[in-house]
Amino acid sequence: MSENTKDVKFVCQYCGYENLTYVHLNGEKRQEFLKDCYICHQPNRIKVLIDEKNNVSVVEVKMVNW
Ligand SMILES: [Zn+2]
Repeated sequence: MSENTKDVKFVCQYCGYENLTYVHLNGEKRQEFLKDCYICHQPNRIKVLIDEKNNVSVVEVKMVNW
């Protein structure tokens, strides 16, 4: 097993619900990805920073405007 992930919480920008998701620790210090809210199923764009100890901090959560 080499699955290397880290749990991340983010607050949905549409309904305010706190979601739990994860990021893959692939060496990238900054990651950006889309995640649908579990409750309202709207897509949130999430930016995270990962430090050298693999601590993940969410720096931005935005609504996705298509
Ligand atoms: Zn939501």
